[in-house]
This record gives sequence, C-alpha cells and structure tokens, in this order.
Amino acid sequence: MSDAKTYANYINGEWVTSDRTFEVRNPANTDDLVGTFSKGSPEDVANAATAAQDAFAEWAALPGPARGKYLFKIADILEAKLDQLGEEMTREEGKTLPEAKGETMRSINIFRYFASEGSRVPGHMVPSERDRVFMYAFRKPLGVVGLITPWNFPSAIPAWKLAPAMVAGNTVIMKPASASPLSAWSIIEACHEAGVPKGVVNFIAGSGGELGDAIVNAAPLKAISFTGSCEIGNQLHEQASKRRLRIQLEMGGKNPTIVLNDAILAKAVGNTVNAAFFSTGQKCTATSRVIVEEGIYDKFVAALVEATKKLKVGNGLEAGVQIGPAIDKSQLETDLKYIEIAKKEGAKLECGGNHLTGGDYDKGFFVEPTVFTGVTEDMRIAQEEVFGPVLAVMKAKDYDDAMRIANNVAFGLSASIQTQDVSRIFEYASQIEAGLVTVNLPSAGVEYQLPFGGTKDSSFGPKEQGPAALDFYTDYKTVYLGY
Ligand code: NAP
Repeated sequence: MSDAKTYANYINGEWVTSDRTFEVRNPANTDDLVGTFSKGSPEDVANAATAAQDAFAEWAALPGPARGKYLFKIADILEAKLDQLGEEMTREEGKTLPEAKGETMRSINIFRYFASEGSRVPGHMVPSERDRVFMYAFRKPLGVVGLITPWNFPSAIPAWKLAPAMVAGNTVIMKPASASPLSAWSIIEACHEAGVPKGVVNFIAGSGGELGDAIVNAAPLKAISFTGSCEIGNQLHEQASKRRLRIQLEMGGKNPTIVLNDAILAKAVGNTVNAAFFSTGQKCTATSRVIVEEGIYDKFVAALVEATKKLKVGNGLEAGVQIGPAIDKSQLETDLKYIEIAKKEGAKLECGGNHLTGGDYDKGFFVEPTVFTGVTEDMRIAQEEVFGPVLAVMKAKDYDDAMRIANNVAFGLSASIQTQDVSRIFEYASQIEAGLVTVNLPSAGVEYQLPFGGTKDSSFGPKEQGPAALDFYTDYKTVYLGY
C-alpha cells in the first residue's frame, strides 16, 4: 500500500513542485501514507491568478458545446479510473469503499451533466413593448473564480463547483482541503489529460489561512465559492465583501429528522441510522437531531439503539464495514468533547460514546456511533454542529411541537420527515426552515440534477448544482435591438 506518490500543484498547465510539503495519511490507519503534497504559497496563488486571467478571454470565447466536450472527456478519464479513485478516496478520507466509489461516480455524472449544459446555458428572449425591437438577455462568464473545498466530499464538491464554473466559461483557482486533497487533485489531472487549455484550471494545495487570504485578495478574482465551516465562511464573506466579490457559501448544519406517530417504524429507523451515522456522520446533510412524536417514541428509541449497536466500525477498505473513522485527531476530539458535554448537560447516553481502541483501532481515529436521549432544546448537542456520529433524540408532543423544535436552531441545511400523512408532508415541506427537504428518505443523499444548498446560517448566495449552479458562475447581459 505504500507506493505513496508526491503530488505537485498545477499552475498554467504545468505541474509545480515546492520544497515545502505536507503528508496525507489514512485516518483508518495512520501507518498508511496516502501521498505527499506540495505546499502552495501566496506567490503560487498570484501566478495562478495571472494564468487564469490570461486564459480567460480565449476560454470564454469558445462556444459552450466546445467547452462541454472537454467536460465529457474529463468524465471519461475519471470513469476509466473509477476503482483506483474510489480506493484512494477511502484511504484519504476514511469513508467506506462503496461510499467512495459512489461519490466518484457522482463526480463523473456531474461532469457529464454540466458538459451537456454547455449546449444550453439558457438565457431569456421575450417580446418587446415596442414595434421592431428584438430583446434578449444572455449569460456571460464572470472571469477568474476561486473554489475552496472541504474534506468530507473530497471529489463531489470540487466537481460540483469546477464543472459549472468551467462550462460557463470561467477560469479557476482551486484550493482543496488539506486533509483530503488527492481526490480533487485527480480531477485536475483528468483536466490536464483531457487537454484543457493552460491556465483555465489551476490547483494549489496547502494551508487554508495562508492560501485563502491570497485567493480572496488576488487582483483578477471575480468570485469565490466556498464550502466548509461557518467560522471560515463568515470570515471569507467579510474579506470578499470589502472587494465586492461575488461569494457563495455552503456551511454547517444541525439537521433534523422528524418521526411522526404514523411513520413506518423500520423505515424511519433505517433512514435515521443511515443519515446519522453513514460517512461517520461527516456529511453536511447528516441528521444530528431526531425529533420523535410521543406516541412512537419508546418503540422508535428501542429499535434505533438496537440498530445502532449493530453497526460495524472499522477501516472502510474492509468488506462489511459500515462506519469509517473520524477524518483526523482533531475531529475525533471534537466528537468526544461533545459526548462529554451532552453527558454533563444531563442527556442520557443510550449507546456508544467511546473512543474505540485496541488492535487496528489504535492506528486510526475511531469513535462509536452514539445515541443520546432526553436531549432538550437548550443543550449544546441540540444546537451546535458536531460533525460526527453523535445523534440527539428529542421528544415532541405533536407535529406542531416537532416543527417548532426542528426550526429552533440557527442552521437550515437539510431536514427529513417520516410519516404517511400527505397533508403533513405538504405542510412540512413549506414550513421547515431548510434548503433541502426529504420525506421518508434519509436527510442526506442528494442528486446533482436539482439545486442544492441551505438557508439561515447554513448558506449564503445562489444554490449549487442542477441548473441553478449557473446563476452563480454567470452574469446576464441584456440586449435591445431595433430593426
Ligand atoms: P473548514 O475548516 O472551514 O475548511 C474548508 C476549506 O477552507 C478548506 O479547504 C480549508 O483549508 C479552507 N480554509 C481554512 N482556513 C481558511 C481561511 N482562513 N481562508 C480561506 N480558506 C480557509 O471546513 P472543513 O472542516 O474542511 O469541513 C467541514 C465543514 O464543512 C462542516 O461545517 C460541514 O458542515 C461543512 N460542509 C458544508 C457543506 C454544505 O454544502 N453546506 C458540504 C460539506 C461540508 P485547510 O484544509 O487547509 O484548512
């Protein structure tokens, strides 16, 4: 497993190495060195910004379908390496192999979807009030855009930012998360192999603080798309606003699953376990609060705890493992810290709650899937994002109480309801304060063909994915033509 490579940055069509490097290790087994990456510098960002600026006019002038052709090629290159890329993702991020392959396939689908968008890029054409006036509005790319991505979806998030940015005619500087830069690097390698013109795509790995400042202050930059924590997102927003940069932020969540009395028990439990614990609870759309109506509460909790105890935690490369490790020591410590806080605040630990140690567990950052009951709205575990496999169970008197509890947080990313009542479903879909709403499904698990993003403190700016993605990466130009 240790044929670990050294990965360079990519600036103006060239692989650029640096004397400063950082290691990426498998969070399930830190003996496994996944790769050594060149640490980019602010000078690298400046060079990338100049290259992207120089490449912009020609790239933007290409017809949309011609840009789309490059994206189709990128998708084909990635698909030919699907097995390798899936395994690399499991090794760098820890999610299970089926999850990693699924995510890689999703990135491929994202490239194909936006490749086709190159042939559409819809504008507006409407009748004028005036005689012999033709009027229309068409979309123009913005210019150089900065993409800053988190570690938890190391391929899909870079893909769902890069593909629409490119097909719309922008040029790009991408900065991946330091914990898992390899999957994004592989997308850039595919861009290189597909013959994307130099300067269109630039990739710089390295410290967020150092490179983030350089990106947000790079003179040619027109926009930043960021996914990550609220803390960094809000900080970037402040910096970007000073320059009036366009900015899009996708950040944290405290996502509820509501279980009503008439829910199908087995389904509700399965969906909750899936949403709370798969990918180690490290999805922005993961369920971290399950709000259960009184009539089904006891039965639901018993079945939930039983199902949670059965989950197999381990190295995601091993068949049968359902839950991988935390991404790193710091996230493991955060998970354990919140478990202690919940205990201190009076929540009842039903199962889990421990750092898993002994044998192979000692080589990684493993925590047991954890369920707390008796969680009240004032507890930190009911309000703050943990980003780990820690689930808070809350009791609701009825539907209205459940909705009140669900909406009583600062976040609004995703939400789920488990019920057979059609009227409730429609009420919930309109009343719940979340950008992504599911019914009788897990709160996590989205497709690329529809808009994605949250509301309240979770998000800012236009949505990502689906046709809405082009709203962020383009600007309208309106034409009035007399004839
Ligand atoms: P993070 O710490 O905010 O990091 C995100 C990215 O920002 C990384 O590339 C990081 O680089 C970079 N960064 C760090 N400091 C920076 C600075 N001062 N200026 C500019 N960039 C900087 O978040 P994370 O821990 O990777 O990801 C977990 C968070 O992402 C969770 O809150 C989760 O909810 C959220 N998330 C949201 C969505 C969504 O769609 N809403 C999706 C996935 C994840 P380094 O890695 O080098 O520090």
